[in-house]
Amino acid sequence: MKCPVCGGDCIEDAQAVMDRVPGIFSPCPHCSYRVLDKNAPPPGRTYGPPCSCGKRFIDEVFAHLYVILVEEGVFSGKEPLKATGMPLIHPGFFTTGPPFLPPNSLVLVSPVVTPGAAARMVYEVPEVRGIVKSGDFVPGAVDPALARPPRTYDLLAGCDVRAGIFPTSAGPLVIFTQQSQMHIEFPRPRNPKIESVERVIAQATPRWFVDACAGSGTLGLCAARHGVKNVVLNDAWYAAAFWSAQNIIVNRAFFRVDEVTQHLSYSAMKDGQVSREPVLVAHTRGDQSLSVYWGDFRELYRVLPPEPVCTVLDLFDKSDREANRQVMREWQSRVPGEVFIP
Ligand SMILES: [Zn+2]
Ligand SMILES: [Zn+2]
Repeated sequence: MKCPVCGGDCIEDAQAVMDRVPGIFSPCPHCSYRVLDKNAPPPGRTYGPPCSCGKRFIDEVFAHLYVILVEEGVFSGKEPLKATGMPLIHPGFFTTGPPFLPPNSLVLVSPVVTPGAAARMVYEVPEVRGIVKSGDFVPGAVDPALARPPRTYDLLAGCDVRAGIFPTSAGPLVIFTQQSQMHIEFPRPRNPKIESVERVIAQATPRWFVDACAGSGTLGLCAARHGVKNVVLNDAWYAAAFWSAQNIIVNRAFFRVDEVTQHLSYSAMKDGQVSREPVLVAHTRGDQSLSVYWGDFRELYRVLPPEPVCTVLDLFDKSDREANRQVMREWQSRVPGEVFIP
């Protein structure tokens, strides 16, 4: 699976990612570390090199990134270490202690970074995969009226494709995403949305499950992981629909599918940004039928079967309850079966 962002081998099968996980962020007997105060500048403009095993404690990596920001004139040297940005590790999973980072395992999401500093970070700091410039908004949040495409962060250097490992009671899912284009989801030991999907599936034992605002596909693929026979994932945002399809391929060994067919390329979808009509992105052949559509969920009923489906509506804005009730009523007027907000 060639990475559509950098052309490299960023995307791996779920099992290959899982096999690397035990110990991936653990120190070797020779690894040293110093814990730095995140609310103060690092002492001196120095940083230690990686250990001979190739790993380096995350605070030392951040000291290195901080020094580059000072040398590039972004920082004066008085800023606290945490102002450097937010670390997203690859693969991301719930860990209790701070990680010792192997090469190519960190995407930095930073509000301050410049293109010049980003290029140096990717070149000079071996742990860095990619540098993303963030803003004070959620990337990839679809405007409900689809009047304009979502705003995104900027990938300044390297590659921002990374995986998160999400536990379900049927086993883990490995979910790849492109961080500048999608909202950030952290794997936690308990995931209330996954648990709510599992509760509904256990009660309703649906033949059809629809994840109408799928994002990178976690909830729909959770239903597939639990063996639901027919699963439809849908999102209006190109990146969400594309990565949902990729994540079927990544996790296909966990499903009863013989073959996955992808109908659209990343570049074709990126050009389109947002789709209103449901366009088929990928589908599977085999005992289980999984499909991904790229479109407005309010149009999805056109491609659903005339039988009850169980639908999860993971809307971005859950604060306006009346608006959400209206959305659910509208959905139920067209699609038979149960609908729930996770
Ligand atoms: Zn890549
Ligand atoms: Zn070491």
